[in-house]
Amino acid sequence: MISPQTATGEPQSPTLTLTAAFEGIEGSYSHAVLEAYAARRGVLFAPLGCSSYRAVAHAVLSGRADLGLLPVDNAIAGTIREGYDVLAEYELDLLAEITWRMEHKLLGVPGATLAGLREIDSHPVVLAECGRFLGSLADVRRVPVPDTGIAARDVAAAADPTRGAIASADAALRYGLIELADTIADHPDNFTRFVLFRAPNALGLAAEFEPAEDFAVRKTSLLFAVADAPGALGRCLSILGEQGLNVSKLDSKTRLGANAQSSFYVDVDGDVRDERFAEALRALREVTVALHIIGSYDASSAPARVRRESTIAVDERPAVVPKPDKVAFPKAQRQGEHHVRSRVMVGNVAIGDGNFVIIGGPCSVESRDQILTTAEAVAAAGGVMLRGGAFKPRTSPYAFQGLGWEGVALLAEASRASGLPIVSEVMSIDQVERMAASVDLLQIGARNMQNYDLLKAVGKAERPVLLKRGMAASIDELLAAAEYILSEGNPNVILCERGIRTFETATRNTLDLSAIPVLRERSHLPVLVDPSHGVGVRRWIAPLCRAAKAVGAHGLLLEVHPNPAEAKCDADQALTFADFRAIVAELARIPLQA
Ligand code: PEP
Ligand code: MN
Repeated sequence: MISPQTATGEPQSPTLTLTAAFEGIEGSYSHAVLEAYAARRGVLFAPLGCSSYRAVAHAVLSGRADLGLLPVDNAIAGTIREGYDVLAEYELDLLAEITWRMEHKLLGVPGATLAGLREIDSHPVVLAECGRFLGSLADVRRVPVPDTGIAARDVAAAADPTRGAIASADAALRYGLIELADTIADHPDNFTRFVLFRAPNALGLAAEFEPAEDFAVRKTSLLFAVADAPGALGRCLSILGEQGLNVSKLDSKTRLGANAQSSFYVDVDGDVRDERFAEALRALREVTVALHIIGSYDASSAPARVRRESTIAVDERPAVVPKPDKVAFPKAQRQGEHHVRSRVMVGNVAIGDGNFVIIGGPCSVESRDQILTTAEAVAAAGGVMLRGGAFKPRTSPYAFQGLGWEGVALLAEASRASGLPIVSEVMSIDQVERMAASVDLLQIGARNMQNYDLLKAVGKAERPVLLKRGMAASIDELLAAAEYILSEGNPNVILCERGIRTFETATRNTLDLSAIPVLRERSHLPVLVDPSHGVGVRRWIAPLCRAAKAVGAHGLLLEVHPNPAEAKCDADQALTFADFRAIVAELARIPLQA
């Protein structure tokens, strides 16, 4: 409440303490938003955790809290209907919207591992925001709980290493949890919009929260209903448009108890005090069966941390629009709804803009000792994923064909031991299901890039796919192959340039680094480079790694072996552990390309 602080007898400038109601407990995102907001306003903050969205409104209306905060939508999961409903149902004075970047972490008790989790708790909206990541974990139950702070607190209290929580880094600190995975939301631009409000005619806060006179930085939320008829909604939107008012959100809602009517939540840029609004509302009243002004509020007050420049700056650059006759890949190309570059989650690893990943491992899994020591060396050097072929496509039928399922099991063991997600090649349709259950990323090898039935099969699998460019495939053909996978419903495709056949014989293939900027321009899919197969000679791999990062690749696929001379496959191009360490260290000094 509002209390002048009188401490030492000296007259002091009064400090405002605001009791602020939110749903959840300390460590929740709402709590962090309120803390940041109070700090920016230079006021003290007394948190009042509530058990439901409605309870937040009640706390404010009953005078127990000065302010209330509710989330209303999330960039990935969409409208948080319950938040809007409470704002619409109660008479509240909306003050400001606050847009907050949600940086979710997967948390566990000390000693827990990602592979050991059997249950993950979080707020249902947060679980939805991390759907791809959660989908990549086998045998893990998702448990919705009222809020992320509660998820973290309860997992900590249970002291059970099979339970995890998705919450913020702040929650981890508060409840003594460790981070098991980072960057786990489906997209890095994961913002939630919260609305801050007070009771109508609240005393005392007036000076602090006097609405800005600049209507351009304000927003208005409306709820209206129309009788179901062709063009009814269009008429309402036209009225707003004719007054030059921009609609920034539109969401339909069932009008309970009313037949043949539809309700819509609409957010409009501007303030109801604007005379264009008065005109629009007058006209809207004539064409709607109900019209409720939920409120006008400040829309300029996003905390500074919201705009973390790295990924956003890149995403907002306009894509070059391909010529109409080239629009052959509606799902693979970078345009329209796929304008923003995709990030693909592989286990806990995000592949895409803003990140550069190094994947290492042997050409083929040869023995338990070989793959376990390689996994350890790759992880220690800073590699983030382990590769290893179990089914090897060899030119000669008499060459080592890989250890098959035994190799897959060894790879999985190495993954558990090192914590690294794994990628391995799938060669035939009948291997897809079992492979998808065993590895984190399904590799389609160069020789199978145009095996269309296999592409369709991995397109139906619930695992991300690493699609290698065929050795005689054009960029268009690579994108067409990606389109096969995407069109079957699997959105998680990573492209890989691994060298093409040319007249040149000095190198194993010709690593086509020019494909990287072309693919970045034409497709939203992440692109890796495999210089091992591209050049085929150990000592030329490091310079090509540097070039790959400089030209904008999202990461590297590198062959590493404990003893390259003895490798059963691709010995000439296998890096030693020391080579691999040196490359990872060197690349850390090359800036990430935007
Ligand atoms: C591999 O990565 O193990 C492999 C066989 O590569 P490619 O399909 O590019 O020849
Ligand atoms: Mn190889």
